[in-house]
Amino acid sequence: MTEAHEYQALYRKWRPQRFVEVVHQEYTVRTLRNAVQSGQIAHAYLLAGPRGVGKTSIARIFAKAVNCTNPTQGEPCNQCDICKKITRGNALDVIEIDGASNRGIDQIRQLREEVNFVPAEARYKVYIIDEVHMLTNEAFNALLKTLEEPPRHVIFIFATTEPHKVPLTIISRCQAFELKLLPPELIEKRLKEICEAEKINASPKVLTAIAHRARGALRDAIVMLEQLASYKGPARIEEHDLYEIMGLASEETVVEFLKALLGHQGKRALEIIADLADRGKDLELFVDELIEQTRDWIIAAIDGQAVPAEANLSKLIELSTQLLALKRELARAWEKRILLEVKALEIAHKEPAAPAPSPQPKPSAEKPAKKAEEDKWAQLLDEVKRDRRGTVHALLVEGHPVELAEALRIEYDPQHTFHKESLEKHRKYLEEVVARVYGLPRVEIAFAQTPPASPRRKSKGAEVRAKAELLTKTLGGEIVS
Ligand SMILES: [Zn+2]
Repeated sequence: MTEAHEYQALYRKWRPQRFVEVVHQEYTVRTLRNAVQSGQIAHAYLLAGPRGVGKTSIARIFAKAVNCTNPTQGEPCNQCDICKKITRGNALDVIEIDGASNRGIDQIRQLREEVNFVPAEARYKVYIIDEVHMLTNEAFNALLKTLEEPPRHVIFIFATTEPHKVPLTIISRCQAFELKLLPPELIEKRLKEICEAEKINASPKVLTAIAHRARGALRDAIVMLEQLASYKGPARIEEHDLYEIMGLASEETVVEFLKALLGHQGKRALEIIADLADRGKDLELFVDELIEQTRDWIIAAIDGQAVPAEANLSKLIELSTQLLALKRELARAWEKRILLEVKALEIAHKEPAAPAPSPQPKPSAEKPAKKAEEDKWAQLLDEVKRDRRGTVHALLVEGHPVELAEALRIEYDPQHTFHKESLEKHRKYLEEVVARVYGLPRVEIAFAQTPPASPRRKSKGAEVRAKAELLTKTLGGEIVS
């Protein structure tokens, strides 16, 4: 075996070779397997999703499965000649094109000529075009002509991290799949398996930290693990090694810095920045870490879990918006340290917002009947959380329930237009859960007719922040408590 003494990156070695080995993309994988099994193969597929979640791996497995001489239940055998060649990357009929570096019309023209030739050795010629959104308009137009009259023996698999940049004319000719970010637990599980098989000595804590840092991209997690393993040799990998090698600040530093910002301690924030700069930490990564941590706290706050005493939901959402703006500015700045210092001071010493009440109902002197109503509402919110409908939960917490004879009415303050409108999109689910908890057949979503007795202070940016919050949450998938 030539591979034995060839160095192979861990993530390549651990790249899934069969559909069943792909982690967390069940829907896509099942559909593709069924297509292979039934022989109903489309001419073009689009795999959209974040980086590092398995787009190219799935494309290759599919290329193998459709060409394998001995497939079982839609899976490639990985033993036959053609499977082996595709795995090694030297099959003549599986052509991988990086859309980012082959953007132009010439490459696509060449491709258009080539597609007309029958496959050299396989059943199908498979073109895998990665980052397809990078193609120029001319190239897309040329590609479109091929997609309009595809030769029978050709399959296109497009992969993209930015499907919105792919022309609709292309997308409409593809069977499209959206791949998901992996939850940290699954990444951690995979890392454990790799460590056991590869005899990598790593503390459980560092695996958790890597899984968290990888933000849903399994490949990134495996690459981090590999860097750490080669850095430490046979010695045990500890959590601090991760921060060291990635140029990251430790979680404690991140938390301390955020507390300084929230607690109006600009001086402390500057000390931390100085310390990070002295230790050669990457300040942009540091801001990413701040954003991540803030996001975690926002989710915790929404879920009713503990957040630092300095924080509450509205403060955190505001901070998150400020940090996201800072991230954009920092990317363009020459003097990153100075910019970070100035912005940290600005954030820390901004006119403090009035102590915002935490989003729990006021203990009221109202009738006990009201109490039962609030209990049901809390139960409803719990059910929604249990159903892992994080977005719906976030929308509901701003609403006020009113129990009517035949319906549950969910009222919003006029400033919550966005929440009210967004909730409409989840009406079907909502009706189902309301029926479950309240036993009521209908749901009304409406503006409150009279403003609440003590309207909550809201700054102009409240709507924007609410959107930002929901986007952040939605991007990260539904919340898992
Ligand atoms: Zn095979």
